[in-house]
Amino acid sequence: MGLFDKFERIEQSLDTLKQYSESFFNVVLQEIISSTEAVINGKRTILAGTNNYLGMPHRRECIEAACQAIQEHGTGTTGSRMANGTYAIHVELEKELSRFLHKNHTIIFTTGYSANLAVLSTLVGPKDIVILDADCHASIYDGCRLGGVQVYRFRHNNVEDLEKRLKRLATKDTNILIAVEGLYSMLGDRAPLKEIVELKKEYNAYLLVDEAHSLGVLGRNGRGLAEEQDVEDDVDFVIGTFSKSLGSVGGYCSSNHHKLELLRYASRPYVFTASSSPANIAAARKALEIIEKEPQLRTRLWENANLLYSRLKDLSFTIGPAPSPIIPVRFKEIPKAFAAWNGLLENGVYVNMVLPPATPDGTALLRCSLSAAHSLEQVEKIAQAFETIRHLA
Ligand code: PMP
Repeated sequence: MGLFDKFERIEQSLDTLKQYSESFFNVVLQEIISSTEAVINGKRTILAGTNNYLGMPHRRECIEAACQAIQEHGTGTTGSRMANGTYAIHVELEKELSRFLHKNHTIIFTTGYSANLAVLSTLVGPKDIVILDADCHASIYDGCRLGGVQVYRFRHNNVEDLEKRLKRLATKDTNILIAVEGLYSMLGDRAPLKEIVELKKEYNAYLLVDEAHSLGVLGRNGRGLAEEQDVEDDVDFVIGTFSKSLGSVGGYCSSNHHKLELLRYASRPYVFTASSSPANIAAARKALEIIEKEPQLRTRLWENANLLYSRLKDLSFTIGPAPSPIIPVRFKEIPKAFAAWNGLLENGVYVNMVLPPATPDGTALLRCSLSAAHSLEQVEKIAQAFETIRHLA
């Protein structure tokens, strides 16, 4: 038995998938034209499958801030936060995020993935319990695995199922952490945070909310779902990323817990990896400043989301329950989903193809995501491209 024999199933799946599309797993954006357009397969294509909700990667101010940071601080930090990798700009961004999110403490990490890995693997251990929404991101699962915590899943957004588990598991000498997302990355639906907060209080549990897809997208000030549902003070740990609305790379955890700072000393994904580059930090800081100054960006994003949602609904596609910047379009048959995905590309529109097991119920879905940077004309073109593949759904 060789080391690579265990990948046989993956190899077989890839062979099967290749009959539908050669380029599916290897889409190359050959030239980036803007936040909403790139050249793919030699063709100018509208990007409708990114997490670029606010168009920050191409904002002149963010690019200038990143370039200036490279000039001033160099291209990389060559060290972890714990050693030589904490610059004044990292500390400034932690303060700015705390102020923005109305939390007392923030720790930034090199990615959103490592933020979840770091926080979950350190906060909870084998004697504790995490009850998580079944649709939570892989980084939440992996953090639990690294910490060796006991994990129980509840059905996606199903508060009764969560309560059933809490009733069974809550004992006086066990810590329970409930982990959910704000806006879910695949289905674009929101967690019922108000009800979850009620349960957290009733069963004396902690609550962690990953607002990766909701920062800058939800809430009057863009602070996320907890702001929108008016439960910010009841969320113990907010996780986020710079890789979506902030258009950079990095992650954070913010909390009012006065001992949050101790995680810096105990958390391996904080201690044993290099810190975010100066360019990434500077771009994220500038984007956060823009989010605060330009609420109209959120308005634009939602105009686009509402328009595409209503166009796809009128075309009778099976889509999510409510408008959202993430719109999943379901296909019962995987070959037809591939044909649709290819058809969209041929019509100059790129969306994400999501296959089981990443999809919740074994169906395939095409995940559209919108940006404030899309023009109404581009959204209309996306809708028209979908019209051409309507017969496949
Ligand atoms: N949490 C969620 C909910 C995500 O969707 C993602 C990325 N897709 C992450 C965390 C990880 O973020 P990053 O890309 O910054 O590693």
